[in-house]
Amino acid sequence: MIKVYIGLGSNLDDPADKIRSARLIIAKQSKIKENSFSSLYSSPPMGPQDQPDYVNAVMCIDTDLPALDLLKVLQAIENDFGRVRKGEQWGARTLDLDLLLYADQKIEHPDLIVPHIGLSERAFVLYPLQEIAANDLFVPGKGLLEQLVAQCPLNGLKRLI
Ligand code: ATP
Ligand code: CA
Ligand code: CA
Ligand code: CA
Repeated sequence: MIKVYIGLGSNLDDPADKIRSARLIIAKQSKIKENSFSSLYSSPPMGPQDQPDYVNAVMCIDTDLPALDLLKVLQAIENDFGRVRKGEQWGARTLDLDLLLYADQKIEHPDLIVPHIGLSERAFVLYPLQEIAANDLFVPGKGLLEQLVAQCPLNGLKRLI
């Protein structure tokens, strides 16, 4: 089994409820087992500011799925949640599932970059990740999680529950 971290985000139609149901649906997939789940956090939007705050969390799973297959599973779940892609970067969405880390692998594929591109500087990823990962977690190409968190201001991130 491979240990994988997934970043969850939502800012439409009861976002906290979206994150909770996405968690259950991810865990229900075959070849996926939930390992741990962070608290929920709220964070101000990146990019366009005329959209609601986000609710974010990080989930750790064990999986036998190859990384690209896992990405497809996550994208299918986003679609099931009614995600509409409007071509605007970082626009409002019902559900965003980012593949943050896939064991200790570096992946550079046209459809999949791992570690996820924003992981090392986004408070809404680093702080929930730190809650459920070991402090000596090494982010390939970036450094120790502990150091990345120490260098990252909260930027308005708040823990919800
Ligand atoms: P960001 O990636 O900066 O967080 P976003 O989540 O809003 O922005 P999306 O529109 O959800 O971006 O995804 C755009 C594309 O990113 C997807 O089609 C997917 O192929 C690609 N992608 C590359 N690496 C990853 C990854 N690690 N996890 C999820 N998607 C990825
Ligand atoms: Ca399962
Ligand atoms: Ca994202
Ligand atoms: Ca995404």
